[in-house]
Amino acid sequence: MSSDSHVSSLSKLSSELLEHADVKVTRCYQCGKCSAGCPLAEEMDYSPSLVMRMLQTGNPELEEKVLRSFSIWVCLTCEMCFARCPMSIDIPEMMDYLREKSITEKKTNPKAKEIIAFHKSFLDSIRYTGRLYEIGLFADYKMRTLKILDDLSLAPKMMKRGKLNIFPEMIHDRSGIAGIFKKTAKKNKI
Ligand code: SF4
Ligand code: SF4
Repeated sequence: MSSDSHVSSLSKLSSELLEHADVKVTRCYQCGKCSAGCPLAEEMDYSPSLVMRMLQTGNPELEEKVLRSFSIWVCLTCEMCFARCPMSIDIPEMMDYLREKSITEKKTNPKAKEIIAFHKSFLDSIRYTGRLYEIGLFADYKMRTLKILDDLSLAPKMMKRGKLNIFPEMIHDRSGIAGIFKKTAKKNKI
């Protein structure tokens, strides 16, 4: 069978993963090493190897469950699974693509709301200053989650230790950062 016919036998989602994340789900032979090494497997609704298995089936209902799962948001991109996988399957890259797709298709898991808010606040900090501006990130995250008072008592201690700057430090080439955001949004069609 030609490699083209292999590709055409993949589901739409599996084909996208091959194209955008260079992950061919059918290569996984379910050894379970990724799940055994994943530091967050216990927090996930489906372990990394189970996510692989669900995608391998090409069953639309199971693919839908993956896109709506909490697992894809719990993944820290620590790359432990990638390092342990005998087939060099880049699960972190795959999780990244699944997160983007989950957002664009409005299928995000309700439990992931705060994680998504943090992602957005973090990216906005980089987008506008070119660096991580902790106070801005903190304020933005709290506005998004409405958890205004949580952890507020930590701020004075962090300031005292010089961990928080009142004013952001801007990088000189902010147009370069804007270009990166533009290019990424175009590539991922977001
Ligand atoms: S380690 Fe690799 S081959 Fe083994 S189950 Fe995980 S993804 Fe599949
Ligand atoms: S990259 Fe994600 S799935 Fe892989 S081991 Fe780390 S947390 Fe687990």
